[in-house]
Amino acid sequence: MSSCIFCKIIAGEIPSVKIYEDDLVYAFMDIAPINLGHILVIPKEHHESASSIPEATAGRMMKVGSRLGIALKRALDYDAYNLHLADGKAAGQVVMHAHLHVVPRGVDDDFRWNWRQLAYADGEAAAMAEKVLAKFKLNDQE
Ligand code: 5GP
Ligand code: ZN
Repeated sequence: MSSCIFCKIIAGEIPSVKIYEDDLVYAFMDIAPINLGHILVIPKEHHESASSIPEATAGRMMKVGSRLGIALKRALDYDAYNLHLADGKAAGQVVMHAHLHVVPRGVDDDFRWNWRQLAYADGEAAAMAEKVLAKFKLNDQE
């Protein structure tokens, strides 16, 4: 996609610090890292949403992302890593080419996800699960 910043990075039209590349995915250093070493893993094919990425590519993104997470721990002495993917603007997606964040974490890195924990009324979780399942299509392209 010609106007997409990440497609331009893959094509070499915009510079990036590449860390890994294969037939399906491209991985590079995030320009504004949560912690130093923060990596982005992207499909070489343009997909706005993770939901339309072919399974082989999506699987490669997860494999490469998690193995790069291990490499971050070994090479840079981190304790752990988060894999994060924002799908849609309301979820925080800014660049509309799907990307998996690999965020290296340290026990004292002072970064907290803004995570909250709500509660269900009796039966509400099961009712919701049933409603969602009725709309679930594993191989739909939308
Ligand atoms: P999002 O908020 O869409 O999940 O994350 C987009 C990420 O892309 C951000 O972490 C941002 O720092 C990174 N980013 C945006 N533009 C560029 C760029 O031109 N080069 C690199 N290396 N990273 C970028
Ligand atoms: Zn793109």
